[in-house]
Formats: sequence, structure tokens, C-alpha cells
Amino acid sequence: MSFIVELLPAFADNYIFLVSDRDLGLAMVVDPGDGEVVVRALKARDLHLSLILNTHHHTDHTGGNDLLQREYGAPVIGPAKEKSRIAGMSRAVGHGDIVTFSTLRGEVLATGGHTAGHISYYFPQLKALFCGDVLFSLGCGKLFEGTPAEMWESLKLLRALPDDTQVYAAHEYSEANAKFALAIDKGNEALKARAAEITALRKAGKPTIPALLGNEKICNPFLRADSTELRNSLIKGGIGAADADAAALFGLMRSAKDRFGGQKL
Ligand code: ZN
Ligand code: FE
Repeated sequence: MSFIVELLPAFADNYIFLVSDRDLGLAMVVDPGDGEVVVRALKARDLHLSLILNTHHHTDHTGGNDLLQREYGAPVIGPAKEKSRIAGMSRAVGHGDIVTFSTLRGEVLATGGHTAGHISYYFPQLKALFCGDVLFSLGCGKLFEGTPAEMWESLKLLRALPDDTQVYAAHEYSEANAKFALAIDKGNEALKARAAEITALRKAGKPTIPALLGNEKICNPFLRADSTELRNSLIKGGIGAADADAAALFGLMRSAKDRFGGQKL
């Protein structure tokens, strides 16, 4: 059985993920913000869409549900806590539930914080994590509906996955994220290497996604809120407080990023 995971760029910086079983000619799509982008990709590959997964209710992740349901009759699976905010949801899932596509099994993880009901999907057979707007390469999502403590718990849950997991984050924010990460974690050599890689990829017009989780664990400051080195460097930089616990330190970093260089992400 051969599966292919592809990135479909949409809008200014979104990625829609198309997973296909080429033997059966079937596909599933994760976070189809733009339905037409997906229809074009399916037609070009001669695939039938059999499943739609949503991580959270934001339109840039769900806007194409309607068109795709109409064209292919594919069911929409989404977060139970956001059922009232996603039109036409066929199945509402929560932490610990399993979704299936062809012979693949995906585990649902509760990753609230960006939105209250945000979920992620982990497919061990693909070594793939579809984490919407929770975890980005060298960054994390904004806290629109959650507290720093909730988001930190979500990130710790994702951090517990195996190092060889590919992180399919839904936005190409890596370059801006790298700028902030380098500013607050100056001595981190692994971060410098990843930032250089990101610059080179973007220069070549290539995506920086997926990111390798094992590398994010050592490079991404938002996965390192409990690291002593990062804590010390945050205190030096005037962001951290010596008595802040990891969740509080995470919150201080997140709000520092909200103010950083006019970045909107
Ligand atoms: Zn979002
Ligand atoms: Fe988004």
C-alpha cells in the first residue's frame, strides 16, 4: 500500500494536505480552506475524495468543506467542541478517538489553545502529524481562545510524539518564526542551523513544511518553555521571570512574539 502526502498551497501562506492511496485512487484532505484548490489537485491526479478532516473552525481551514462535500459526498470529521461552528460536520471527534482512511489509522489529540476545541491528527503509519495552527516550525499558533497553560499542555502532548514524526503545520510561517526564535534563543546552534535551512528553502521557492519533530524539540522555543538554557536567556533578554513556571514562561514568550517586529502570526 503506497500513500503520498502532498502540500497544496492556498491563500497567502496556508497549506492544505492531500493524502492519497494511489492503489485505490482515493484521497483524504486535511483543512481544505479553499475547495477549488483541492478539486483541481484531485482532478489532475485522477483521485476520488473520500474524507475531509478539520483541525479547527477557522475559515482558512474549513472554507472548502461545502464545495468538496457537494462534489464528492465526502464526510467531514472535525472537533466535537466546535461542532456548532463548522457547518455540515458528519462526525464530531475528541481526544482518543480514531479516524480511518483506507488502511490508515489516525489518532485524535486534543490540542486546544489557538481555538478552544482545536484537535490534531497523528497517523503513526505515515509518521505524520496534522496539527493545524497549534504547532508551526519554530513557532506556535496565536492564543485566540485559550490560555497559555492550555496551549503549553497541547504542545507538550505533541512533543511527546516520536522524534521521527513529520509535522504538517498548516501555515508557511517559518521565516518570520525563525527571526523571533533567534532573537530570544541566541546561543542555540541547532536553531541557527534550522533557520539557515529555512532561509535556503524559501530562497529556492520550496516549503519548509513538513518539519521534523525531533528537530523542533531542540529548536522551537515554544516547545522549550521548560528548558533551563532558554529560561536563562529569556531572563537576560528581559522577557522571562525567574519565578515563572514553564506555562507562564510560555505565555511570556507568546506575548513577546505578539509584539515582535509587527509580526501578525
Ligand atoms: Zn487558525
Ligand atoms: Fe490558520
